[in-house]
Amino acid sequence: MSEDIRPQIGLRPVINVSGTMTSLGASIVVPEAITAMTQILPQFVEINDLQRKASTIIARLTGGEAGLVTASCSAGISLAVAGAITGPDLLAIEKLPEATTDKNEVLVQMGHVVSYGAPVDQAIRLAGGKVVMIGQSTSTHRYHMENAITDKTAAAVYVVSHHVVDYGLLNLKEFVEIAHAKGVPVIVDAASEYDLRIFLEQGADIALYSGHKFLGGPTSGIVAGRKDLVRNAFLQNMGIGRGMKVGKESIFGVMAALEAWEKRDHAGIRERETGYLNLWKQTLDDRPGVTALIEPDPTNNPLDRLRVIIKAEEAHITAWDLAAALRTGAQPIIVRDHEVEHNYFYLDPCNLHPGQETVVASRLAEELDKARASNEIIATPFEDLSRHRFDGALKWPD
Ligand SMILES: *Cc1c(COP(=O)(O)O)cnc(C)c1O
Repeated sequence: MSEDIRPQIGLRPVINVSGTMTSLGASIVVPEAITAMTQILPQFVEINDLQRKASTIIARLTGGEAGLVTASCSAGISLAVAGAITGPDLLAIEKLPEATTDKNEVLVQMGHVVSYGAPVDQAIRLAGGKVVMIGQSTSTHRYHMENAITDKTAAAVYVVSHHVVDYGLLNLKEFVEIAHAKGVPVIVDAASEYDLRIFLEQGADIALYSGHKFLGGPTSGIVAGRKDLVRNAFLQNMGIGRGMKVGKESIFGVMAALEAWEKRDHAGIRERETGYLNLWKQTLDDRPGVTALIEPDPTNNPLDRLRVIIKAEEAHITAWDLAAALRTGAQPIIVRDHEVEHNYFYLDPCNLHPGQETVVASRLAEELDKARASNEIIATPFEDLSRHRFDGALKWPD
């Protein structure tokens, strides 16, 4: 790693074993993207021509007819939905988020209405879409969807994520089959997925990705798929897309990240990550009250994580107090703790600089030793955490 700017500007040098989190700066941007951004920043370009070049690369990697770079995947949801509602009608585009048609309903399975930091349904509403939830949180059947499609239906949104309910819902193939039988386009939010082709192959009309997650590009989103729908999303730059503007550096940066992705040594990276997981597992195995399990990614990305299960009575600390302890100190470690109320967290190996894995291992050992040596069990009531979750944000910037 080159010189670390963070201490110089008063930021804590956090180590990310949480995943590609917006709150931590997403991912480590690949050198190819950094070079590309540096090259383009001092130059003027004709942005629509640059987007045309991006379209070619996105089409090649995704198998879609065309592609567009947006400010984020969330912006991609809004622009793709907006395009499905307005078509190429420039006046309708200017009028959004007020829809000039009543064909603005957007279907989404209730078990897919999640938060990726903001609610999925809000990205649809921002685009003038009227969200029609189908099914219940843990069940959607064909009849739910078939009966929800009317002449007011503009699109159907399908979310692929570890956040969504993972049983009892319609899978993408069925979702597409039902939508297409009535001429409804399907937009897939695949923000965190590695596979750039599979959702279009399974019949999606649009697939959306984050540029700044696994791809290691700058903050951006990728819209890929049917040319008319991609074009209609592109046209939103003259409307609601303006407030979600993407600059030349992000467009060119994500183009470079996509090309680097094609050439990346995926097997080598996987092997390095497996080494990290084994090191952490060895550090944790045989400690009282601690169970460490290597588990595959829930949406089948080629990625494993370490699940660290804590029995507070034996480890003398709860999983959430351990996560909090790791967040303190000279090199704060941020674990993946969104299910921590179930007494476990995960360690994600895919955002580490070489050498940080040993810091993670020694900090885990240090905090667990300390807890074990304490006479009391460190156990903050979980409700206290919940009550104070937004305190920091609500008093920002102090
Ligand atoms: C991360 C994520 C998003 C948001 O992506 P951004 O590019 O950060 O806007 C949307 N949907 C899902 C499922 C995500 O995981």
